Amino acid sequence: MDSTPTQPFGLLVIGSGPAGVHAAAAYVEAGGPGPVCLVSADPDEPYQRPPLSKAVLGGKEPAEVTPILEDDSAWARIDLRLGTRVEALDTDRRRVRTDDGQELPYDRLILATGSEPTALPGVDPGAQVFTLRTLEHARRLVDVVEDARSVVVVGSGFIGCEAAASIAGRGVRTTLVSPEPAPQAARLGDWVGARIAEWLAAVGVEMRPGVQVEGVEPRGTVRLDDGSFIESDLVLAAVGVTQSRAFLVGSGLLSDHGRLVVDEALRTRDPRVWVAGDVARAHHAVVGRALTVEHWGDAITMGQLAGGNAATQGPGGTGEPGRWSSPPGFWSEIGEHTVKYSAWGDGFDEMRVVEHSKGAFTVWYADAVGEVVGVLTHESDEDYERGGELLARRASLSEALDAAPTGGSS
Ligand SMILES: Cc1cc2nc3c(=O)[nH]c(=O)nc-3n(C[C@H](O)[C@H](O)[C@H](O)COP(=O)(O)OP(=O)(O)OC[C@H]3O[C@@H](n4cnc5c(N)ncnc54)[C@H](O)[C@@H]3O)c2cc1C
Repeated sequence: MDSTPTQPFGLLVIGSGPAGVHAAAAYVEAGGPGPVCLVSADPDEPYQRPPLSKAVLGGKEPAEVTPILEDDSAWARIDLRLGTRVEALDTDRRRVRTDDGQELPYDRLILATGSEPTALPGVDPGAQVFTLRTLEHARRLVDVVEDARSVVVVGSGFIGCEAAASIAGRGVRTTLVSPEPAPQAARLGDWVGARIAEWLAAVGVEMRPGVQVEGVEPRGTVRLDDGSFIESDLVLAAVGVTQSRAFLVGSGLLSDHGRLVVDEALRTRDPRVWVAGDVARAHHAVVGRALTVEHWGDAITMGQLAGGNAATQGPGGTGEPGRWSSPPGFWSEIGEHTVKYSAWGDGFDEMRVVEHSKGAFTVWYADAVGEVVGVLTHESDEDYERGGELLARRASLSEALDAAPTGGSS
């Protein structure tokens, strides 16, 4: 049976995360010609991921779909195909092949295939190690956490820290294992790492910094490279993400370590293909270099841009494309503490800490020539807002510090 539609989709989107969903909705809103189809490997209706490591894992919200779109009227014009994985992309014939044997032809294509968790190396055959990316992962984790007495979380990135705090908040003995001397010290500096470690300790997370996991045994024993062992009922690996790229082999699209290279308008070198979200390595219009971001809000922004551009640009298109120009940023909740971080995300040479009253603080990050490249705040929303403006203007660290005379700095 040939299940190939005879007419190409006006727009085909791959991925039902924030980038893909907002791309499809923006295309519809911009009046792009139909029909519109969104294909996703995830079997669940599109949902928000941020609550999964926070309220859901902490037992404060059920592991259920929290919709991505506030206004869901666009869905009436989108053919949503869930639980369907794209296995091959042929950009010459403008069609994709899915794991249920269909070939879907398109006129315009948006790739928003996001990230998936990196596997923890050294796991013995028969040992179970959980990861957290999807709603289904969260359901499985919550089921096991409810009966667990001892949990080991591996990795001290934001997801590892959030998950460890949420699990410990349930009263479960929780150990956070990481090769870093303090959580996120490499990315955010030792001072911030020490604050996060204090917050984690305050909710009862036991820290094992500076050690690597050497193996996980079938009964849940975690072997560390300092020769010690931790017995656990559950091991959660939060050791980073990778991009699924198998289906891109032979597509001719340019990739850089698994991310798809696009310009400021999120265009690939194929004029009918755009990329948005985690999977993009996109040129940023303000900072003038390619960035990689793994943030919810930026995936929405990029999805909206890609959808709008796919509706108005490409072969026969008119007008100026939308360009990616807002500074990247996100919030993280570690137990009771919220940090807000806005940065280009590709390192810093200097950092200045401004402590405010009652434990609030702002950390400014600058490059070698003294330009602000990031800001991190805790209970200091004004600085977070101002940090975004300073980044957008490529302002200097001295300007950032001049306007904040009240706090001490270190
Ligand atoms: C637990 C958790 C908490 C987080 N909390 C925060 C937070 O507080 N703040 C923040 O800014 N960010 C947070 N993030 C990161 C944020 O969720 C991601 O940056 C964001 O989801 C990226 O969106 P995306 O649309 O690019 O990709 P994704 O959300 O990863 O979606 C990709 C989609 O593509 C589909 N797909 C992949 N390959 C294929 C294929 N071959 N065929 C068909 N479909 C495919 C997937 O099934 C999925 O639907 C969190 C992430 C997790 C996992």
